[in-house]
This record gives sequence, C-alpha cells and structure tokens, in this order.
Amino acid sequence: MVLSTNLGFPRVGVNRELKKAVEAYWKGNLSKEALKETSRELRMRHWQMQKESGIDQIPSHDFCMYDHVLSMAATLGCVPPRFKWDGGSVGNDLYFAMARGAEGIAAMEMTKWFDTNYHYIVPEFEKDQDFKLSCEHIFHAYEEAKAAGVETKPVLVGPLTFLLLGKARGDFCVSTLLDKILPVYEEILSRLHEMGVSWVQIDEPALLLDLPDWAKDAYKPAYERLKNAAPGLNVFLATYFGDLGDNMEIALSLPVQAVHLDLVRAPEQYKDALAFIPEGMSLSLGLIDGRNIWKNDLSASLKIAEDVVTHIGSERVMVGPSCSLLHSPIDLDVETELDADIKNWLAFAKQKLDEIAALAKGVNEGRDSITGALADSDAVVADRKSSARIHNAAVKSRIAAIVPDMFDRVSPFAKRAPLQHEALGQPLFPTTTIGSFPQTPEIRKARADFKKGEMDLAAYETSMKKEIEAVVRFQEEIDLDVLVHGEPERNDMVEYFGEQLSGFAFTKNGWVQSYGSRCVKPPIIYGDVSRPDPMTVEWSKYAQSLTAKPMKGMLTGPVTILQWSFVRNDQSRSKTCNQIALALRDEVADLEAAGITSIQMDEPAIREGLPLRRGEWDAYLEWAVNAFRLSVAVAKDTTQIHTHMCYSEFNDMIEAIGAMDADVISIESSRSHMELLEAFETYHYPNEIGPGVYDIHSPRVPSVEEQVELLEAALSHIPAKQLWVNPDCGLKTRGWAEVEPSLKNMVDAAKAMRAKAEKEKAA
Ligand code: GLN
Ligand code: ZN
Repeated sequence: MVLSTNLGFPRVGVNRELKKAVEAYWKGNLSKEALKETSRELRMRHWQMQKESGIDQIPSHDFCMYDHVLSMAATLGCVPPRFKWDGGSVGNDLYFAMARGAEGIAAMEMTKWFDTNYHYIVPEFEKDQDFKLSCEHIFHAYEEAKAAGVETKPVLVGPLTFLLLGKARGDFCVSTLLDKILPVYEEILSRLHEMGVSWVQIDEPALLLDLPDWAKDAYKPAYERLKNAAPGLNVFLATYFGDLGDNMEIALSLPVQAVHLDLVRAPEQYKDALAFIPEGMSLSLGLIDGRNIWKNDLSASLKIAEDVVTHIGSERVMVGPSCSLLHSPIDLDVETELDADIKNWLAFAKQKLDEIAALAKGVNEGRDSITGALADSDAVVADRKSSARIHNAAVKSRIAAIVPDMFDRVSPFAKRAPLQHEALGQPLFPTTTIGSFPQTPEIRKARADFKKGEMDLAAYETSMKKEIEAVVRFQEEIDLDVLVHGEPERNDMVEYFGEQLSGFAFTKNGWVQSYGSRCVKPPIIYGDVSRPDPMTVEWSKYAQSLTAKPMKGMLTGPVTILQWSFVRNDQSRSKTCNQIALALRDEVADLEAAGITSIQMDEPAIREGLPLRRGEWDAYLEWAVNAFRLSVAVAKDTTQIHTHMCYSEFNDMIEAIGAMDADVISIESSRSHMELLEAFETYHYPNEIGPGVYDIHSPRVPSVEEQVELLEAALSHIPAKQLWVNPDCGLKTRGWAEVEPSLKNMVDAAKAMRAKAEKEKAA
C-alpha cells in the first residue's frame, strides 16, 4: 500500500498564535507556562488536522519556537561559548538568547535556508567543539503525540547538513567534527527506537548542493553508523529543493529505508532514482508543491506515482509534499475575501494535506475512488489554461515582440555619464540616500486609516504630501545632492507595486514564517502582469516640484518583485519576470516624461534567486540581469538609472551586477566592513558605485571620521570619479533622532573628501 507522508507543517498557527505568544513572552507579558501551552495547542491542532486528512506518516519535532536548525543545535548541545552555557539542558531562555542575543552577547548569525525566504540560525563550531544530547524535545514530542493517539515520524536535521550549514570559528574544517557529532545522533536514534518509533525522518537537503569531496565520502560511513545504532529503525531520508543530480548515487547508496525526492522542482529525477534504487528501499515522491500555493494537477501526479508503483511495487512508495509545508500559508478556508475564481486555483498547507491523501488513495484504490478530487483538479487545470483572468493577449504579444535592442540603453555608459553629470550638476563624491525615510507612527497611522476608509483620499494625500515636503526640506538643509521623496506612501516595497499591477492577488492571512517570529505575506502572481495606470508618477512629480535638485524616482525591480511573491507555475519564472519588467519599463518612461531625471530600480533580492548549484548560475543571471535591463533601458542617456542591493554578499556575482549597466549602484557594505571591495581587486566595476558608509541596521550614529575612513578604503579600489556616498539601505526602520545626525555626518564626510581631492589637484 502506498503511504501518504508529510515532511513538516507550518508552526506559526493560522492566526499567528505562536508569533504573538513568543513576542509577548519576550516582552515579559506572557508566562513561560502560557507560552508552552500555546505551543502544545498548536502541535496538537496540527497533528489532529493531519490525522483527519488521512496522512499516514505525520511528522513530530517539526515544531519549534524559533527555528528548527537552532533546535537541532540545542539538541546537540552546540552552544557558542559566549553564551556561557552551564552544560545542562538547553532551556527556552538560552534558546532565545542564541537566536536574538542577550545583554552584551551577540546573537548567532542568521541566513537563508537554501533558496527559500526562510532564515535559519547558523550553527557555530569551535575547533574543540563537543556535542552532547542537551534537549529532550524530540522524545517529548513523540510521546505527546502518541498520548493523543497520533503515531508520528520524528524529524531531525541530518548530521552532514547540520555541519555543512554551520560555520567553523577558526581555522579548521567542519569535517573534523563528524566523529564527535555522530554519537549524539546514535544516541537519539537508539532512544527513539527503544521508545517504539517506527520511522524517523532525517533531513539532508545539503545533498542538493555542490558538496565538498569530504562530505561526498562521509555520507555512507556516517549513515552506516546510524544504522548500526538502531538497526530496526526505519530512516526516511528527506532531500528537497531540487534535483539530486550527481548526489543521487550517494543518496541511494545509504542504508536507509526510504529516500524522498522533490518532484516539483525536478519531476524527471524519479526516473534516475528508479534506475539505481536498491532492492528494499522505498521512494517517497514529493509531488505536492510545498513552496507554492497552487492546487496540484492530480492527474499528472497520479501518473508519476502509478509509474513508480509499476516499477517497484506499492509497498515501496510514499507520496507527499515536495518539502516541508513550512513554506506555504496555512489555510485557504479563512480567505473569505479572495476572488472566487482565484481561490479555486489555490491550496494552502491544510488543503495540501487533502491532496496528498487523495493522491495516495488514487494510487491504492484506483482513479475511480477519487473521481471528485480528480474532476475538480482537471477543471482547475483547464480553467487556468484558458481563463481571461490569467491570459492577456496584449501582454503576450508584447513579450513576443521583445527585441535585443530593448535591453540596451541608447549609448554606452562612457558616453552617458558625462551627459548625466552635466544635466544633474553632479559634484565629486555625490551624496544620496536609498529611498525611504523613517516611517513614523503618524505615517503608519495615516496609511492604516486610509486603508480602513477612516481617512478620505484628499486628507490622505495632504498628509503624505506634508511628509514628503518635510523630507525634501530636510535633505536640502543638510545639502544632499540627489534627493528622494521618502516613500511614506509605501507599506512594503513589493506589495505597493503588486497592488497597482494586474495579475496580482493578495491574501488576508497567507502568512509564511520568514525568521523567528517574523512572518511575511507574499503577493500571489496569478496572471499576465500589466500596468493599468502609472504607479508612482504623481508622488515623484510632486516631490520634484518642491526642489531644484534632482529627485530620484523610486521603483522596485522585476527580479525582486518576482522573488518575493508566489509565482505562476504555468510559465517560466523568466517570462513572468519579463512581464513585470515591461510594466516597470512603462513606469520609467512615464517618470521621465514627467520630468524625473534620476530613477532608482531596487533589486535587493537579485542574489536570492541564484540556483543552489553553481552550474546553473549563469542561466539565471542571464535572464535576471536582462529583465532588469529591460525595465530600465527605455531611459534616455541623460536620465541617471540607479539600482540598490542589500541583504547579501555580492562578491561572487559582481560581474553580473556590472552587466546590469545601471549608471549608479548603492550597495550594502558598511556592515561587513567593506568586504565587498575585495571583489574589486580583480574586477574593475565599470559604472558608478556607492558602497554604503552608514550602517542603518544599528541605531548608532556613525561619525564623520569613520565614514571618511570607509570612503578612503573604497578609494583604494574605486576611482574617485565613480564613487558615491550613501547609507547601506533605506531608513524606514530608523528614528529621526539617529537619521538626522548620521546623514549630516555623511554629507560632511563627502565634503571632506571633496576638499581633500581639491587640495591634491592643486598640489
Ligand atoms: N528603496 C527602498 C527603501 O529605501 C529599498 C529597500 C531595500 O533595499 N530593501 O526602503
Ligand atoms: Zn536595501
């Protein structure tokens, strides 16, 4: 019999109960007992939900209060020494301190979980790192579920993935820790086995990466050890987020009872697996998309499942989500305001459970046993193919009519730059900011009141214009060169544009955990994207009317809009990206026509789109860079195109950034002490660039001297005539009290640099 399986369920709760409880606990407004009770309730609710849906293998220990990698670190007693851990069991407070820092103790680093928008806490290892079982949650969770009548499959982050995702503090390779970490895994598995656990899920998504040789060699002996520690325990090895490729052989060589494959990202790989799968090993088919919100094409999924069953027999097959459902919103049923057509195309985590169960039933009892679900799914597939809500002939013909010319500005940068400098009256070391200014409580309130209908349009516009004027006056007063309007009208840099574009839908409650207690509510791109009306022109025009200095128009780039949304699965990402680019291209043209001479197209998320495997980078970078170029290349030579990037390191893709051909890029770098500049030792960035000199992530006011110092450092890699002076990122999360002196100091730093350059010229 084919089993239905699940890899993990969202923890946060349909009403973000966990977020609220955890935050209240941090503030001291909720007791530890109450926090634990909320957590228990959520686990129970989600187990029952899965049981009711008919899922055979229900995960436990997929729940945690902050992050599952951090929980694994706690389980393994992998606590950085600065937390002065007493070596006892790792309790809530130490756990949260590791995630968030404590007085005088820096938090552990956080980074993206593969190519998702979920962030995990990066394990830290010392050279003499010891590991020991230090948290009992995995055992308690299993027992808790069992007591409630739910048999579960405890989930662990695998030893190789744990080591590979962590960071060695000091000069040694994490491979040296494998022999020390395995005994703890052995202990965990043997205890689980003694408790009567039948299946345990070990997540090894690191198998989706380009592995170092030591790791390739280490997998088999490591899993042999785990096998020997608990010979009767069934191990479900979970891989997800892509094609195992050359690691398929490794996965299938392990002494585990089942290997899970992501067949949404890489549907064809089940064929490779069938060719090599050893006798006795089961295949778990990840057919339901755990990372997107579309209803499954059940007929297509059934076909694959049936094919696999024909080859290895139903006793060796499981069906489930492509990855943990952690990455999808929880329940579509609560979306009462979503358009009915669109809603009918979607499935959130709860609905995906039903799809998984239906799929298993369909393979086990035949298609006739799920005629209703199949008919519904077939109808959705047909509807999405032809729906006028999705398909817009005008957009399609515009896409078809894209010609190479459209990716290029009229003239090369060398010719554009002097024209822009003259038109804008640009000094040496020009100063600017990234776009947003502090979003004060008054601004947020005005936006909220307007949205709720408690403030009318005229009053709202008046209040926003007042904010814009104040920001313009401030920038003039401190003598910034290229001004911004401050973005008071924007709640979020993607949502703001999505709400004005066709082809986007928004949920009321489609929250997905981003990190810790933070959740995001990505827009849904369901149809061809077009721009019915100009989106930002009136605000920019108004802001420009207030000043003789250049006012930057502010747009969010096509790759970032794509990256931070749920995207269509019926056409390629690159095509959707080009549709967004064309809509933005019209906005650029309209801004220009309205007299805006400087336009910024933000692309903070461009790096996040990089494929997990290096070999696939070029293909991605080509279409991503081209989409950016398509969105801005309509600009005249005299219009200065800016872009901005942050949140990541960019050294390994600096040439692609150069290929975007923006006239000016402002890029995060002060937080990493200008590490970015190392990239310029071998690569000469061709256009103008402002490596951030003011770290906006901290309330600290940077002095003139330290900003001068950073600029001097930049000057050793970037010629003065290419160098801009700007903060690391937008200022919306900061308060005026810090922003005022910080920006004043920044302008003074630029002036000091200019004076010095003058002096050198005279000498
Ligand atoms: N223009 C945006 C702002 O200043 C950019 C935000 C970002 O880079 N994430 O807020
Ligand atoms: Zn930024």
